Amino acid sequence: MPIDGKFQLVELPYAPNALEPIISAETLSFHHGKHLQTYVNNLNGLLPDSPYNGQSLEEIVKKSEGGVFNNAGQILNHNLYFTQFASPQENNIPTGKLASAITAQFGSFEAFKEEFEKKGATLFGSGWVWLAADQEGKLHITQETNAGNPITKGLTPLLTFDVWEHAYYLDYQNRRPAHLSELWKIVNWEVVSSRYE
Ligand code: MN
Repeated sequence: MPIDGKFQLVELPYAPNALEPIISAETLSFHHGKHLQTYVNNLNGLLPDSPYNGQSLEEIVKKSEGGVFNNAGQILNHNLYFTQFASPQENNIPTGKLASAITAQFGSFEAFKEEFEKKGATLFGSGWVWLAADQEGKLHITQETNAGNPITKGLTPLLTFDVWEHAYYLDYQNRRPAHLSELWKIVNWEVVSSRYE
């Protein structure tokens, strides 16, 4: 929710270099401190003249369009993105109810990762690949262009990889698939699972 009518830049739950070498401190500094801050500033500038003043980010994303949607969507997407990571770990795998659902639907965690990476790699231009759940708990992998979020399709967003070039260009240049396959090491599955519970 906004504070005094203003949305704030989400705080990172880890140190600026905590995600290295998967995401460098430099990328994080631009991505969080510049790109996301700009979306926050833009939305705060647009809201007073819109019908959405005082509403939650989720409500705004579900109902708005144009500039308000683009900036609100990018804030919601990045808030979910930045808070779903932790320091790199080998053999970093989901547990509990979400792990069971992934295995039941995709056959294995490996098969799920392959499908998720493929959807991220083949998304044309800028956007986001998502793992989302419907009301029955069934999982969906969706491709959303630009500021899209599966919340607009009635789904609950669980996990997302940002495929805008600003998310990886300093570290991986044009090698988007290499970036996507590395991100699994820093997914905080406790956070992602809690979104599914
Ligand atoms: Mn981004």
